Amino acid sequence: MGDRRPSTHPPITTEFLKALPKTDLHLHLDGSVRLTTLIELAEQEGIELPANTVEGLKEKVFKEHYESRLVPPLTLGRYIEVRFAPQLHFNDKMDIPQIVHAVNNGLKRAKDEFNDCDGVKEGSEPEFNYGIICTAMRMFAPVFSEYYRDLSRCHQFAPDKTLQSLASIELARAAVHLRDIDGLPIVGFDLAGSENGFPPKIHNEAFDYVTKNFMNRTVHAGEAFGPESIVQAIVGCSAQRIGHGYHLFSTENVTNKDIKDADKFVHDLVQVHMRARRNPLQMVTKTSSLSV
Ligand SMILES: [Zn+2]
Repeated sequence: MGDRRPSTHPPITTEFLKALPKTDLHLHLDGSVRLTTLIELAEQEGIELPANTVEGLKEKVFKEHYESRLVPPLTLGRYIEVRFAPQLHFNDKMDIPQIVHAVNNGLKRAKDEFNDCDGVKEGSEPEFNYGIICTAMRMFAPVFSEYYRDLSRCHQFAPDKTLQSLASIELARAAVHLRDIDGLPIVGFDLAGSENGFPPKIHNEAFDYVTKNFMNRTVHAGEAFGPESIVQAIVGCSAQRIGHGYHLFSTENVTNKDIKDADKFVHDLVQVHMRARRNPLQMVTKTSSLSV
């Protein structure tokens, strides 16, 4: 017989859940630009968009729920961790520190404005805060940005893996410097981009560097490749969080011939590397982000 005593807690309603202050620990900056800002920037830079109105862009490019996702970080999310790849934004006007400082300036302005509201000042509302995660790219091509173009030109005889490793080590150094010398709230180092064929072990040196400098680590893994990729992220990159990880349980994606029992491999991965270490898996959908 179960315990049938009436609960003393009020019912958990949709309104209650909506009103709860949230955190978003997996917020991609690049996907969080307001459509009005996107149109404004495109006009400034003379870039032609598929449409020049919010309605037109929603119709042609975005679905309704993309727009709705833009609201929570500042209205409900009281702590957000914003991640982006600074090297993708590098150009002859802005170097890596300037890019990260620019993002920090925008976030700080939002923080200061939000925390100036009566609710926060009176103590009835939790304040808003943020952290920045610097993302290295698993792979890139010269067309990705001027940084990658110049790097490829300067090392035109180097294998791709060498360039990928060089780029991530440079970003690791920049992330630690920006945190320790410039005082920016860099809370983690990340790896993202095409997964299949671009193993995280290429970036082990960058992750070693941030680990030795007491910076937290997260890796996008198990998204386009199987559980083996998650193991590589945890073992080689000391990842404390796994981003996306959709294929954690996809035993059919285990490809290493030395792994004779894929079910046991996934079981051990979950029990030893994830559950015992409390290594969270961040599931990110088109409309929400959930850490489990
Ligand atoms: Zn992600």
